[in-house]
Amino acid sequence: MHALITGGAGFIGSHLAELLLSKGQEVTVIDDLSTGSLDNIAHLTNNPNFHFAIETITNETVMDRLISDCDLLYHLAAAVGVKLVVHQPVHVIETNILGSETVVRVANRYRKRVVLASTSEIYGKSEKTPFKEDDDRLLGPTTRSRWSYSCSKAVDEFLALAYHKEKGLPTVIVRFFNVVGPRQTGRYGMVVPRFVHQALADKTITVYGDGLQSRCFCHVKDAVRSVAALAECAEANGQVFNLGSDEEITILDLAKKVVEMTESKSKIKLIPYDEAYEEGFEDMRRRVPDISKIRKVVAHKPEFSFEATLQSVIDYFKARHT
Ligand code: UDP
Repeated sequence: MHALITGGAGFIGSHLAELLLSKGQEVTVIDDLSTGSLDNIAHLTNNPNFHFAIETITNETVMDRLISDCDLLYHLAAAVGVKLVVHQPVHVIETNILGSETVVRVANRYRKRVVLASTSEIYGKSEKTPFKEDDDRLLGPTTRSRWSYSCSKAVDEFLALAYHKEKGLPTVIVRFFNVVGPRQTGRYGMVVPRFVHQALADKTITVYGDGLQSRCFCHVKDAVRSVAALAECAEANGQVFNLGSDEEITILDLAKKVVEMTESKSKIKLIPYDEAYEEGFEDMRRRVPDISKIRKVVAHKPEFSFEATLQSVIDYFKARHT
């Protein structure tokens, strides 16, 4: 099996590459290093089954060659992170829509199966709990940049589903819910690496809003194991799956837990959303996945508890700074 991973030098992609190599598969990664990094894959480069191209996925000539050579394609390249979405909306919209269009169209040319990474942002600000794959979406106005991310990934999903329906291309869609772990950076807004970094430096922990918004955090190793299992499952074709943990925690409790586990002297400070992102920023109050569907087709059972997940991020940051 030869897998192509777009965005394979990113946080989730690099863990997926590692997993597939450990199963004896050949892995090619394409990444433009816009948010990914060579550090994430440095430990894989000695493996003779590992290949790497620094290139953007909108380069159709390169994509044509890479896709024709692989058996299966994991499309993870995307512009992600709420801060990035708010501050660089053109980049986010173009990367997510034009990139995916190239990937899916070329995959169809060679009839290669596509596993497309999507996001819980798809559900928007709907207050339903938990989210099921077929639930309605609720989005704010186009004048709020945040919603462009949800819309761009929804276009990707429509495209993958349309290629499946109309042309019979095998495609599977996976909606990640707050995947965290080693190698994730806080640079684009992700809360866990930001809090751990702040706590280890005894700096103020920046909790946005009232801190009572909640999320469910899933360890990246649990996430990629389920993605690889879905990729091997023929009955998943043409379907959408939520992927994540259903253990919910408020952001304020997360901050307290990080302070406790790092034995930090940091103080926790509430920062209004307008100040943290932009005026009129809208956040999601709760975000809990219904994971019964994925559990019916693959053994999606998280091995990492919430504490073990946090500990792995703390260990990663400590190792980097010693
Ligand atoms: N958040 C926070 N402080 C930070 C970064 C994020 O309080 O320094 C909050 C953010 O407003 C959101 C939650 O943590 O309510 C999760 O944010 P993240 O960007 O990690 O994921 P998403 O919002 O996409 O679920």
